[in-house]
Amino acid sequence: MRLVLLGAPGAGKGTQADLLKERYGCVHISTGDILRQNLKDKTEWGLEAEAFMKRGELVPDDLVVRMVSGRLRQDDIARGFLMDGFPRTLPQAEAFDDILKNIGQPLDCVLLLEIDEEVLVERLTNRRTCRSCGRIWNLSTMTGGGEICPACGGDLFRRDDDAAEVVRNRLKVYREQTAPLVAWYRNRGMLQGCDASGTQEEIFREIRVTLENHDIS
Ligand code: AMP
Repeated sequence: MRLVLLGAPGAGKGTQADLLKERYGCVHISTGDILRQNLKDKTEWGLEAEAFMKRGELVPDDLVVRMVSGRLRQDDIARGFLMDGFPRTLPQAEAFDDILKNIGQPLDCVLLLEIDEEVLVERLTNRRTCRSCGRIWNLSTMTGGGEICPACGGDLFRRDDDAAEVVRNRLKVYREQTAPLVAWYRNRGMLQGCDASGTQEEIFREIRVTLENHDIS
């Protein structure tokens, strides 16, 4: 399976990618996760990306494309891959096409997670991530104080860029720079829409039906 998960921040790309990875055994490539790791490790890429990420802006295309190009040349890609958070601009989509041609791994489809913006703001500002196991939770649907991970007991934290002002900027950036990819992939006959307003399980079920209907596994 070779998929792109497309959708606004908070649509559930990371959560669905985790579920898909578990079920289909493919590699999950999240450019946001790779950048956050680089930031933590204070690498050259991390230092270059830091200011953009703090403001909720996109990191320059050439940095992200170099990062993805290197990742897609690793051997585990033979198991299939899920792109989460990439491509996010038209130049990235074009560069991605070239990379896939070069490595001989054409995309099966682009799954668009569709959801209203008001729901996204609520989801993102209430989003908490576990420092130990990396699972993603929502304060409004979990029991307890939202400080401890119900799965493993690790500490939960809020991503810096999930603060309300930064969230609004990230959604604006999505509308202006990433939303045009919907038409771009639709024109190429690659786009499949999924309603992302339900629970994790409902969304996952819909994605699985879409994949099965297109013989993607
Ligand atoms: P995410 O975890 O996908 O929401 O990404 C967090 C942040 O990392 C974004 O707000 C951007 O600053 C940066 N980022 C992640 N993926 C990309 C990308 N494909 N292009 C540019 N910036 C990105």
